[in-house]
Amino acid sequence: MQTPTKPCGIATNAADILGKLNVESELFERGSLHSRSPITGEVIASVKTSDNVALDRAIAAADAAFRRWRMVPPPRRGELVRLLGEELRAAKSELAQLVTIEAGKIASEAQGEVQEMIDICDYAVGLSRQLYGLTIATERPGHRMMETWHPLGVVGIVTSFNFPVAVWAWNAAIALVCGDALVWKPSEKTPLTALATQALFERAAKRFGDEAPKGLCSLAIGGRELGEALVDDKRVPLVSATGSTAMGRAVGPRLAQRFARSILELGGNNAAIVCPSASLDLAVRAIAFSAMGTAGQRCTSLRRLIAHDSVYDQLLPRLHSAYRTVAVGDPREGKHLVGPLIDEDSYRRMRDALAEARDLGARVTGGERILSDRWPNAFYARPALVELREQAAVARRETFAPILYAMRYRDLAEAVAMQNDVSHGLASSIFTSDLREAERFLSPEGSDCGIANVNIGPSGAEIGGAFGGEKETGGGREAGSDAWKAYMRRATNTINYSSALPLAQGVQFDL
Ligand code: NAD
Repeated sequence: MQTPTKPCGIATNAADILGKLNVESELFERGSLHSRSPITGEVIASVKTSDNVALDRAIAAADAAFRRWRMVPPPRRGELVRLLGEELRAAKSELAQLVTIEAGKIASEAQGEVQEMIDICDYAVGLSRQLYGLTIATERPGHRMMETWHPLGVVGIVTSFNFPVAVWAWNAAIALVCGDALVWKPSEKTPLTALATQALFERAAKRFGDEAPKGLCSLAIGGRELGEALVDDKRVPLVSATGSTAMGRAVGPRLAQRFARSILELGGNNAAIVCPSASLDLAVRAIAFSAMGTAGQRCTSLRRLIAHDSVYDQLLPRLHSAYRTVAVGDPREGKHLVGPLIDEDSYRRMRDALAEARDLGARVTGGERILSDRWPNAFYARPALVELREQAAVARRETFAPILYAMRYRDLAEAVAMQNDVSHGLASSIFTSDLREAERFLSPEGSDCGIANVNIGPSGAEIGGAFGGEKETGGGREAGSDAWKAYMRRATNTINYSSALPLAQGVQFDL
């Protein structure tokens, strides 16, 4: 592994931001995990990692903290999350800059990511007064039946590089108001944004006071093995894991083996169907953002375009023009809309997928590596548009890069079948002005995804809805709607306020 380079502009910048946020320099100056900025490919920090002993301590502290935190009234727990939201608002610019430096996002997307953290805090504060159960009709006279939601315990959070901080917040804000404690293992590719986020949480906890027990929220920095240790720990009843399907395939059975719960938020292979009646102006903009935004490194990025035969020849030239002109480069410069890929492996996978498509006779435009003269260790690629005659295997798997496969269809049933004929089931969309088509797409025989949109692209979800997908996307749901229920345990209570003891189902047991 390369040793840290002399601090250059960007390294100083990351260190400055961390300093401003009160992250102790010993956590990122002399550790063994070398954090690289995808912008230049340079090592920008050497982060201290956690070993299994430190993880064990963090889980023990979280377990002890949970026992106190679960008895703090939920609206009061919401106050801690409100303060966290305030800290995030105050540090929005710094944290977003760090997201740009470490994950390579353009400024507006990095700010959007921090805004999402703020939004989920606001949502969770309201939720802290709405953790309701039901009262249920009972067949027994003089009885009442109800359901109660209780805090669950220590929640393990494992996150991916591409939303280095927002995914933590989706889980943390909700889990905290639900009365849980947290141990977070961020991606080994983005430890600095995790250190900064943890520092902001600690500021909020300090302002909140002693009611927030020590160890309530902690950070364990490391790679896959540390994630496995967290997943295997019996003191952790729920692990929310975001990342590749390969990761979920490993994590899911380990959790099931010990009867722990999981929220799995895995890969996606998202499609858009463009119908004859679609507004092409709208579709072109939505497709361009969903497919090229974040350099195609969102789980909800658009990867497959299924366009009706009658609009394909009008739509494709417009997309080609957008792909030719989109500005790719240093995400710190406002003129660029597409930044770098996270690393060389990611670029290699993109290059290999494009070679596979070419071998099938596909028309491939874009995909070239650029800026390698300036930054030989950074990986910028022009977004690629690939015209396929049919939905080949290369289009049916997720390549986490800006590649859009375009295909034709003739009738809607065929388009929906193509859209569903992949192993993932995260996000989908249809562009149409025909109400019948839109409703068919949203009906039980339509899209099989967790997210199905009409006249907007598949990416860019809001926190108010439940987020997640089906099939090899893992089935988990996070953020809004009733996703909070996954972070609590349900008890059904029956109370007898009579002096008789009628048994259910008419059973007699007279001693
Ligand atoms: P990744 O699977 O390589 O890593 C994700 C996290 O899992 C990292 O923290 C990693 O250390 C950890 N990990 C890996 N193997 C593990 C194991 N066996 N046990 C425990 N932890 C393990 O993913 P990535 O490259 O960081 O992220 C990109 C992937 O994440 C894409 O497939 C993308 O679609 C997916 N993603 C999904 C969502 C969603 O909400 N569905 C959101 C963001 C990203």
